[in-house]
Amino acid sequence: MTFTLHGIGIAGGFSIGRAQLYSHDRLEAPRHQVQPDDIESEVARFDAAIIEVRSECEHLRDHLPEGAPAELAAFLDLHRLILEDSMLSQVPKDLIRATACNAEWALAQQTEALLAQFDSIEDVYLRERRQDVKQVADKVLKALLGHPSLAPVKVTEEPTILVAHDLTPSDMVLFKRSAYAGFITDLGGTTSHTAILARSLGIPSVMALHNARALVQEGDLIIVDGNAGVVIVDPDADILEEYRLRQNQWRLEQQKLKRLKSSPSATLDGTAVELMANIDQPEDVKEAVQENAAGIGLFRSEFLFMNRSDLPSEDEQFEAYRKVVKAMKGKPVVIRTLDIGADKSPAWLHADSVNPALGLRAIRLCLAEPPIFIAQLRAILRAGKHGPVRILIPMLASLTELDQVLELIDVAKASLEKDAIPYGKDVRIGGMIEVPAAALAAEWFARKLDFLSIGTNDLIQYTLAIDRTDDTVAHLYDPLHPGVIQLIAHTLKVGQRLKCPVSVCGEMAGDPKLTRLLLGLGLRSFSMHPAHLMAVKQQVMHSHVASLAPMAAKLAKAGRPERIQAYLERINA
Ligand code: PEP
Ligand code: MG
Repeated sequence: MTFTLHGIGIAGGFSIGRAQLYSHDRLEAPRHQVQPDDIESEVARFDAAIIEVRSECEHLRDHLPEGAPAELAAFLDLHRLILEDSMLSQVPKDLIRATACNAEWALAQQTEALLAQFDSIEDVYLRERRQDVKQVADKVLKALLGHPSLAPVKVTEEPTILVAHDLTPSDMVLFKRSAYAGFITDLGGTTSHTAILARSLGIPSVMALHNARALVQEGDLIIVDGNAGVVIVDPDADILEEYRLRQNQWRLEQQKLKRLKSSPSATLDGTAVELMANIDQPEDVKEAVQENAAGIGLFRSEFLFMNRSDLPSEDEQFEAYRKVVKAMKGKPVVIRTLDIGADKSPAWLHADSVNPALGLRAIRLCLAEPPIFIAQLRAILRAGKHGPVRILIPMLASLTELDQVLELIDVAKASLEKDAIPYGKDVRIGGMIEVPAAALAAEWFARKLDFLSIGTNDLIQYTLAIDRTDDTVAHLYDPLHPGVIQLIAHTLKVGQRLKCPVSVCGEMAGDPKLTRLLLGLGLRSFSMHPAHLMAVKQQVMHSHVASLAPMAAKLAKAGRPERIQAYLERINA
């Protein structure tokens, strides 16, 4: 029976395929073959799961609530011992290597064998330990299911659409190497990091569907309309035909946009507009180069720190940054320092804040962990020897924080001098304006920094007090809220007055419906996912800045949503 689900369109376009259900909670071990080249990364995934569970046990053991029974500590110690026994921590790896199976399946096989041995033990105490082994194995399986294997897609002729209750940013990073035709999830907001990554894959996706995971069956035929945020399950022949037409049309339009690649990015009245790319991983630079980006306006360096159980070393980071700088051949590369916390929390972080978006996130975390920060600053400064690198500091709120950051940058430089390691002497320092207080105080930040970059995703989250990952408030996300527009307009004006360059690197920069408004407000530097560069360039090339400015000023002063919409339509007409 055909039915339709409504959510939020995250990545545009249409896809038609068979549903593959995905769940973090299901404790069934999926089974699939691993390609010979991927066997060692499968083993590493298993090791990472063991380390994750071990550090979870240790963390719990070290943070037992006052008055907790003494048995609890002993119980956690026992679990750690079970975990470290080679029967659980080594044999599954041997199985992965010997049979080229995935880590979950190897673990399930070994757990079954171990549990069978317990059944034949006479000693009652020892026999009861069976339950402990099962619990520990389940924890490892859960950790593995939270870090899915790189190739979970079933081998099928038809395109596959992943249907999940929720996906984490780490899941999405792993899915970059898979072949899904679309993603749909129950949870998630427009600018959650999961959504941003889904968009970066350029695959039609719809989020905030609330109960798709429960209603859709494995293998159902699904249409994903990423433009309208609609999912049609089990469509009849007419609907299917209609969507196949739309899909073809969409592909043609995308092809046409590609022709703009070598056209200069300037408005009709001759204003040059810088269009840069956002990337998450060094490999993404290829796409930025292909789309002829003017530079990397935002390298979200935190993804180098995710899907792993340890921290990347200074050298490893340096190599990653240098790779991007080299690939950009003299074009600027803005590397944002570690922005973890909130929805990007690697296992080693032990994030247990009640309200993580307002907690020890981004620069706050780096200032609390100077060795991690200094290692990253050294790596970025070293990469600055190979091309025009800029450092971008996320989530600045107070000027005291900025002073501390500038001091630590000096410390990093001094330590490089002392070690006689070459580094870029003219690496410029910028700050993200993504906390409303920083936007209001932009003047003081602009005086101390070389450039500013407005992170509209967080600016909207913090200005409107809506958690960007929470689907229940996703409908309140509003880039056109007068409060948000005024903060952006104010920051741009301050930048112009103090001759401090300002760019926008949040999702607003990649939305072609907002390009002309931002131009009218004075923005001349946009950074977005490479997939959106041509659509935004097309808008730029059809704009006349002189006539946009007065309309944008009126929109910024209009309070009522319907008046704001009316002005936007005039701006885009
Ligand atoms: C932003 O907040 O707009 C931004 C670009 O940073 P992120 O989305 O990574 O938080
Ligand atoms: Mg941000």
